[in-house]
Amino acid sequence: MRPATLQEAAALLKAQQAPIRPIGGGTKPWIVSRDEAVLETGGLDRILEHNVGDFTAVLEAGVPFADAQRTFAEHGQRLAWDPPDPGGATIGGIVATADSGPLRHRYGGVRDLVVGINVVLSDGTIAKAGGKVIKNVAGYDLAKLFAGSHGTLGLIGSVAVRLHPLPDRTATVAIERDDPDELLAVVLEHARRPLEADRFDVTWQDGRGRMLLEFSGASAHQQAERVGTVSDVDWDDVRALQRGTVVVKVSGRPTDLPDVIRAASAHGGTVVSRAALGLSWIALPDATGVAAVRQALSPRHCAVLDGINEVPEAAPGQAVMERLKARFDPARIFRPGSFVGGI
Ligand SMILES: Cc1cc2nc3c(=O)[nH]c(=O)nc-3n(C[C@H](O)[C@H](O)[C@H](O)COP(=O)(O)OP(=O)(O)OC[C@H]3O[C@@H](n4cnc5c(N)ncnc54)[C@H](O)[C@@H]3O)c2cc1C
Repeated sequence: MRPATLQEAAALLKAQQAPIRPIGGGTKPWIVSRDEAVLETGGLDRILEHNVGDFTAVLEAGVPFADAQRTFAEHGQRLAWDPPDPGGATIGGIVATADSGPLRHRYGGVRDLVVGINVVLSDGTIAKAGGKVIKNVAGYDLAKLFAGSHGTLGLIGSVAVRLHPLPDRTATVAIERDDPDELLAVVLEHARRPLEADRFDVTWQDGRGRMLLEFSGASAHQQAERVGTVSDVDWDDVRALQRGTVVVKVSGRPTDLPDVIRAASAHGGTVVSRAALGLSWIALPDATGVAAVRQALSPRHCAVLDGINEVPEAAPGQAVMERLKARFDPARIFRPGSFVGGI
């Protein structure tokens, strides 16, 4: 299935009886797949609006992220998402997986820049929320619900997003420590300072830790020099640490950093952490260390991403998710049985 309009998608879905899986650029092959028909969003690839003066845009789900950024850049703007390996990723795929990167420090997660959304449900209803509201599904903040829903609630048709100025220059400071507790001390010292950083990450590889702060705009270098020596840091490499054979995403507090590093190191893993947000990604060489890492970091929430082709285990909010699934996809057409707790 490859609809070219939302109306066509609605007609296809209304007639659909068997499970389907929406797919954008297909850049996340590790996401559990079953015997499902594929609904490609490649035909929904129009940038519907770019309101330069308002710093907003409306994009169909199948627009390649890189194409959208090029269009915005021509007007000195950007969509402040920087997922790892954006490659052929589409707007819809990034929203559906909430695939955020280091810019989350300043601009929030994927969902925080979505101001409106247009979805197609399994009964063929086209529902809209936020942005230019025509028909709302009463009571639900659809953009927040569908961000990270992994295609299990309905098809994301288009999104309205908020844009930001594209900085003409950036400067990054790196401070190194090879002791996890000392690294945390440096992080906390800088988290308390009134710094306007775009990115604030920590990396840990081969027994060596780095705290990275990126500043942008005309005063980027001066801001960076107030913190330390400006370094030549490749942020693509930093973001790449979020992907791997097996990745465990840990949601906790910034002060958990030394525990996260020790748990990762014990199993040959690397770490990248949004230092001020308490979110860390541990990339492991294989799945053998997953259980031990989870146990070491319990009761923090650990979601296993990448590499393991298995249904994510049930989460504390499972009952709520079940109810949402029943509300949005009662026919269980969208990836049934594939997501958290077999939703
Ligand atoms: C149990 C479980 C298992 C999963 N397993 C997989 C899997 O195997 N594979 C996969 O691809 N995906 C999986 N997912 C989905 C995946 O975790 C999410 O899609 C994705 O990680 C959401 O990322 P996020 O960056 O939006 O952060 P979230 O996970 O939404 O948030 C991370 C943490 O930050 C907090 N937070 C977020 N926003 C704010 C805010 N504005 N203010 C304050 N706190 C905030 C949250 O409360 C949470 O503690 C799983 C999800 C769950 C619940």
